[in-house]
Amino acid sequence: MLELKAVRRAFGGIVAADGIDFSLAAGERRCLIGPNGAGKSTFFKLIMGLIKPDSGSIHLDGSDISRDEPFRRVQRGVSMKYQTTRIFPTLTVAQNMFIASPGGKLSEVAAWGLERLELARNTARPAGELSYGQQHWLEMCMALGNTPRVVLMDEPTAGMTPQESQRTAQFIKELGDRGIAAIVIEHDMGFVRGLEAPTTVLHQGRVFRHGSIAEIERDPDIQRIYLGDAHG
Ligand code: ADP
Ligand code: MG
Repeated sequence: MLELKAVRRAFGGIVAADGIDFSLAAGERRCLIGPNGAGKSTFFKLIMGLIKPDSGSIHLDGSDISRDEPFRRVQRGVSMKYQTTRIFPTLTVAQNMFIASPGGKLSEVAAWGLERLELARNTARPAGELSYGQQHWLEMCMALGNTPRVVLMDEPTAGMTPQESQRTAQFIKELGDRGIAAIVIEHDMGFVRGLEAPTTVLHQGRVFRHGSIAEIERDPDIQRIYLGDAHG
């Protein structure tokens, strides 16, 4: 459903994406990990169209979207949940959802998300009054407004309680059952394990490893690249 072929993007002398090959099937979930500066955010921005590749191509359901502007990709079903919430705090939950809904019409899957994450009974509340975890959940529901084929989530559980984090993992699995794929950047290994998803490790703009989280965790080369990173 989503495919990257030999995608390269440099910033001056830094090659943030260095010939990335990647593919994801409909409804598949995937974890994306890697030390600071590995190129994870760049990878998302390339898929979203916020930056364009220098070479290589990106395909969605067989169409080349490499040169499409971000709004076109949203229309085609690419969605992103940003690391810092981008909700409108003074607007109500319902108003936030309205903004995220093409034509102002709540998508079926977004309505399901609101129910599932217990926001459906909070639609009249200003979004800024929700708990931190609920604000993240609201943004996840907003990311479902376009009935996406794939949702990119950048550290969705940052600042969540362990219980909220577990519910988020469960929610992402249920998205998969509905045919919506997810790629999740995350540092919290408890959450990553709970997601039970194949994991891709990026390092210096390249796909360094791909495997189950158990395989990744016992790989001495992975431990080495993380130890080389002061923030690891
Ligand atoms: P990660 O999200 O894995 O921490 P990034 O994708 O943010 O990594 O960055 C990968 C590398 O590319 C880093 O060395 C970063 O400094 C560099 N980089 C990313 N975006 C830019 C940019 N807009 N301008 C210059 N360098 C950038
Ligand atoms: Mg990043």
